[in-house]
Amino acid sequence: MAQTRTYVVLLGVPGAGKGTQAQLLQQATGLPQISTGDLFRYNLKHQTELGRLAKRYMDAGNLVPDQVTIQMVADRLEQPDCTRGALLDGFPRNLLQAAALERLVAPYGGVASAPLIQVEDEETIRRITGRRTCRLCGAVYHLTFNPPRSPARCDNDGGELYQRDDDHEETVRNRLFVYYKQTAPLIGYYFAKGLLHEIDGARSIEEVQQELLALVKQP
Ligand code: ADP
Ligand code: ADP
Repeated sequence: MAQTRTYVVLLGVPGAGKGTQAQLLQQATGLPQISTGDLFRYNLKHQTELGRLAKRYMDAGNLVPDQVTIQMVADRLEQPDCTRGALLDGFPRNLLQAAALERLVAPYGGVASAPLIQVEDEETIRRITGRRTCRLCGAVYHLTFNPPRSPARCDNDGGELYQRDDDHEETVRNRLFVYYKQTAPLIGYYFAKGLLHEIDGARSIEEVQQELLALVKQP
């Protein structure tokens, strides 16, 4: 078997705080954040074929087809920054993707842990509708809960903060529906493997981060 790597699968409803936590964990551990949503948005911005294909699914709040999503992640995991592992944010999102990930990481010791960030639906809608994202680096803010230092500008690079097209209430409700139907079964899947860790996501960003960091740093 090749050398063991640390692959962490962040689970939780849209808006639970996966991206926020993955960005902080990346800074703290050096493991790269792999956000499938960010990868699709990058393709959208650069008007690639993949971006054009993904757009109609994302606009409706539905999942992009598995085949293209899995291939995109497989390519990303082969990049040189992933030789110690990766923080998977937004992937897998259904059982078929989970099985594909398992095959991809099996040579490196498999998935190390699957933390589930738990938040009530009302709170998640508050979080998503107030979310603002940097156009340049993808950093995530919240108008009330995690505001930038100067209004509408990213703290890191001064990039413009915008509201994602799919962060309006109508699409958010469909994304929650899709989550419960397709993604929630992953909770049982990772529980059965002894990899699930339930984390109370209703606390502050810092408190959630401390708990996650302790988990990821476990030998
Ligand atoms: P996800 O990646 O799970 O969709 P995000 O990390 O983008 O979630 O977070 C959704 C929104 O909630 C963002 O605006 C973020 O700033 C905010 N947020 C994240 N974690 C917390 C928290 N613990 N308390 C309050 N707001 C939070
Ligand atoms: P959030 O964390 O708020 O749910 P993401 O940025 O993770 O948002 O995802 C945005 C959209 O990108 C999803 O609604 C879906 O259309 C698409 N997407 C992201 N990850 C996947 C995935 N693993 N499989 C299929 N579609 C995905």
